[in-house]
Amino acid sequence: MPDPTLHCPACGTELAPNLLACPTCRRLIHSDRLKALADTATRATSPIDALVAWREALELLPPGTRQYDTIQAKITDLGQVVDTLPSPPPAAEKSNGKGVGKAAGLGAIGLILWKFNAFVLLALTKGKVLLLGLTKASTFTSMMLSFGVYWTMFGWPLALGLVISIYIHEMGHVVTLMRYGVKASAPMFIPGLGAIVRLQQSLGDPRQDARCGLAGPWWGLGAALGSYLLNLATGLPIFLAIAHLGAFINLFNLLPFASLDGGRAFRSMSTNQRWLAVLGLGAIMSLCEGQEASGLLALLMIGGVLTALTGKAPKTADSPGLMAYLGLVAILTLICERLVPMPPA
Ligand SMILES: [Zn+2]
Ligand SMILES: [Zn+2]
Repeated sequence: MPDPTLHCPACGTELAPNLLACPTCRRLIHSDRLKALADTATRATSPIDALVAWREALELLPPGTRQYDTIQAKITDLGQVVDTLPSPPPAAEKSNGKGVGKAAGLGAIGLILWKFNAFVLLALTKGKVLLLGLTKASTFTSMMLSFGVYWTMFGWPLALGLVISIYIHEMGHVVTLMRYGVKASAPMFIPGLGAIVRLQQSLGDPRQDARCGLAGPWWGLGAALGSYLLNLATGLPIFLAIAHLGAFINLFNLLPFASLDGGRAFRSMSTNQRWLAVLGLGAIMSLCEGQEASGLLALLMIGGVLTALTGKAPKTADSPGLMAYLGLVAILTLICERLVPMPPA
């Protein structure tokens, strides 16, 4: 038996499935759910919970309506609130608060120990978050497949380092998306090409999209530096190779093109800022000595020029976004240029 046809409770018009508003009287189909979500969002004690509710509400509203624009504005405002929240997890914060008095009493050594303690705590909590994605079977299987493919290309040690670096990069996206209350999939590896995190909702705000985009290369940079530290500690050249390759891949992801991380970063910049970014890329390229990094930077510049000329730019500038983009490119280029493993003699 077929489902009874839906009719608008206000005017009785027959409704096709997936409609968000009645075509005759414009009544919102999901008005009850929308009321409940608005209620949840206004009662929410954390901006992240409010964002989760407003994002779900946005999906139930037809774009272009007044309600849609109002909620989109709320999402933008709440994103700015989230940006001002301290980034260390609550556990680390608590220890900071207690540590201040103690550190003051112990002097410089105490302060260093306390900082170190806070750092270890942060690493442990972030470490737990890092393992989160691995509980998904799809992530784990696709990761193993990728590992197999890279193994045949580079041998297992570099393949393993590469897969872990990519995973950390992707978890940077996942953690930041969670912070903005966006539903997203766990990372999926595409053998030979990298990995992706699929969004189940739109971010609805170019700045938040840019922050989520740049979080991948930031975490990827952390992975490259971590590998470099392992090289210093063990003297094993493989860690230098992992740091170098990781930095190169993260730099590639900053290409201002389509849905690559760099493309997302550029979309929040005004047209003038895009030209500034191109100038900044040129300045970094002029300091390059090797062909590998300067070749990639030339590509980034071409992408930047194209985006500045043709892309639709927001009216408002995003200075933190521009600074973060250029800062990342500069540090990753430096790693690419300086941390080159010696070829075996
Ligand atoms: Zn109707
Ligand atoms: Zn990414």
